[in-house]
Amino acid sequence: MAMDKGPVRMRSPAKLNLYLEVKGKREDGYHEVKLLNVAVDLCDSVEVELGGKEISIECGHPGVPEDEGNLCHKAARLFFDLGFAPPRGVRIKIDKHIPVAGGLGGGSSNAAATLAALARLTGFEDPGGELIRAAAKIGADVPFFLFHSPAWAEGVGEILSPAGPIPDWTFLIVGFPFGVSASWAYENFDLTSPPKRDTLNHSGNAGNFISLKEFRNDLEPVVTARRPEVLKAKKLLIENGGLGAMMSGSGPTVFGVFDDLRNAEAAALAFEMEHGLLSRVAGTIKGKIIEEFH
Ligand code: ATP
Repeated sequence: MAMDKGPVRMRSPAKLNLYLEVKGKREDGYHEVKLLNVAVDLCDSVEVELGGKEISIECGHPGVPEDEGNLCHKAARLFFDLGFAPPRGVRIKIDKHIPVAGGLGGGSSNAAATLAALARLTGFEDPGGELIRAAAKIGADVPFFLFHSPAWAEGVGEILSPAGPIPDWTFLIVGFPFGVSASWAYENFDLTSPPKRDTLNHSGNAGNFISLKEFRNDLEPVVTARRPEVLKAKKLLIENGGLGAMMSGSGPTVFGVFDDLRNAEAAALAFEMEHGLLSRVAGTIKGKIIEEFH
């Protein structure tokens, strides 16, 4: 009898959106977006092994489902449903470090890591980019994690193009003890309010990186209207030496941009000591996002 291969353990990083424009809503309910995503070295680990008859998930985080609701479960089912390999049982273990429902794309990253792990374990070859198309069926942020960082994502997140070069920034990521549902934030974004267009000085697709003053997140006013803590954290980040600060994705997580690791660490200390807020220093990941841990 053939032995099952594995397990493989994948690095599953978080992302920050330096630019998030909601362009419209399609008839199928999905929002069209333009995103500038950067992967950062705040990472979960996703361990995947073939075996058994079912898809099982172990995570142990109270905010993360261990049933079909887990995005890794959806990814594994889709992988076999699309015929990328003959159906198999899969065991998945997630070690969570990325704040849940924080706007950092943790679930999407875990789903992408599952697809990448299954491709490796089953020997699935993907010259035509089928895995990225499959990823888009799981969620708008999933394709990015199978691509390179930093990158522009358009359409509903599946049209990817490289961005760069990226400055050597260090980010200070400030979390809150509450989450925001991405679908709530998108549903409450008012597409009828006057659009804030042309904030980019150039076409992002030209491959250029954007400057701090071009940072944008259309969902930030939606979230801050209900959660003023987000604005306060942004202000504190600037007061503590941040070159810029913004909410990531659908929030509530806020990040500050620092030109130097030591400045970011000093600000992290101030956040904890003076404001009782948890923060994490993270560097940018350039190039391949999901990789196997060795
Ligand atoms: P995004 O910005 O892509 O919407 P997020 O960072 O705001 O993502 P996630 O951490 O991905 O949010 O979690 C959103 C919801 O998805 C959670 O409330 C959780 O119940 C569910 N979920 C399903 N699978 C996972 C997973 N593997 N990790 C984290 N959350 C998951």
